[in-house]
Amino acid sequence: MAMQIVADICTACGDCEPVCPTTAIIPKKGVFFIKADICTECEGDHDTPQCLDACMEDGCIIPADE
Ligand code: SF4
Ligand code: SF4
Repeated sequence: MAMQIVADICTACGDCEPVCPTTAIIPKKGVFFIKADICTECEGDHDTPQCLDACMEDGCIIPADE
């Protein structure tokens, strides 16, 4: 399971990048991107996805498609 960033909504503010415990978030094509193979949804580190808590844009970070 992983989260994903909706590129059309991401403002590239960068607030999510430093809070990720697995460094799954990287800049890509002018916005930010979550590497699905590295994102753990913060399981084992936090109760909730930290990027989701950090992001101010509604609907920007969502569960990735399976
Ligand atoms: S859910 Fe957690 S592990 Fe996944 S990208 Fe967000 S902060 Fe990183
Ligand atoms: S916090 Fe949200 S808007 Fe800011 S870079 Fe991350 S995904 Fe984009």
